[in-house]
Amino acid sequence: MNFEKENILNRIKQAKSIVITSHVSPDGDAIGSSLAMYHFIASWNSKVEVLVPNDFPNFLNWLEGSENIRLYDKNVNEGKALLSNADILFCLDYNETSRTAFMKEAIDNSKAFKILIDHHIGSPSWPDLNLSVVGASSTCELVFDFIKSLNPIELSLNKNLAECLYTGLLTDTGNFQFSATTTKVHLQVAELIEAGVMPDVVHNHINNSFDVQRLQFFGYCIAEKMKILKQYKLAYMFVSVAEMHRYNIQTGGTEGLVNEPMKIADIDISVLFKEDKDKIKISFRSKRDIDVSSFANRFYEGGGHRNAAGGVSLLSMEETEKQFIERLGYFNIV
Ligand code: 5GP
Ligand code: MN
Repeated sequence: MNFEKENILNRIKQAKSIVITSHVSPDGDAIGSSLAMYHFIASWNSKVEVLVPNDFPNFLNWLEGSENIRLYDKNVNEGKALLSNADILFCLDYNETSRTAFMKEAIDNSKAFKILIDHHIGSPSWPDLNLSVVGASSTCELVFDFIKSLNPIELSLNKNLAECLYTGLLTDTGNFQFSATTTKVHLQVAELIEAGVMPDVVHNHINNSFDVQRLQFFGYCIAEKMKILKQYKLAYMFVSVAEMHRYNIQTGGTEGLVNEPMKIADIDISVLFKEDKDKIKISFRSKRDIDVSSFANRFYEGGGHRNAAGGVSLLSMEETEKQFIERLGYFNIV
């Protein structure tokens, strides 16, 4: 990682307030990278907070430090004050401030020195220091590089921090299956295990922590809601708020659902439409060189990575479905 290390370390040591932020509906990489950075910074400067727009899934609340994470939507005044008083703002796992939703304006207005570390497509000019690497497996991979380049690893890698990094590497690579799972990722994993991470413990927290209703909800969606369009090798599902209520689905409870149809050999694209209060949140997954990020960007104000992207629709469920099917010609053209 190429940046003025002395300068950044001095800034970190001297800052009166450092705030670490991530995107709305934070996932394992967002929370893992933010908490890893939090533990690292705390060893230099105790005036550090993690602030995310809204709540994160329960399966991440065992990570050390997660109990200290500030939720912007729970206390907007506190969040605004943190952002306007910060000297340094870390922006992790997003590269457009719109990804922080209702926190965007306060981030845009913050005069803090903004350090971006991200792996999504894009080359933004707003950060004061941009350490992003498009195509990296995860923000955690890059936060690991950042920490290592500032500090000899044996001084900074304790088990708690290592578990945070491992969580992001694990979740953003789909349990080490996606193409970004490079030798470097595995070498980093080896170091994290050396530092005390127990892979089975983390996997059980992240992947094997369903309650009965959540697994039954997945079963219901696959059995009753999944539609297959053979000509596009595509599967899609619409899930409503009422259905999620029926199964008592909590924050983050649909995480992973979009991956289920990808287990079918003849399916190359999976799309999940999830009803929300005022919009439909869309998740896209694809195999090989099929680019769902550009599809999400072209039609759904979204983006992400080639094989995993997201976006939104502001139409009704029926209209969204009709329009989606009309748009699928896109995959034949490109
Ligand atoms: P997920 O489907 O798991 O929510 O997101 C998949 C990927 O797409 C993640 O890397 C996420 O950051 C990105 N993503 C999800 N929703 C959006 C969106 O609305 N806009 C953009 N630009 N990226 C998104
Ligand atoms: Mn990520």
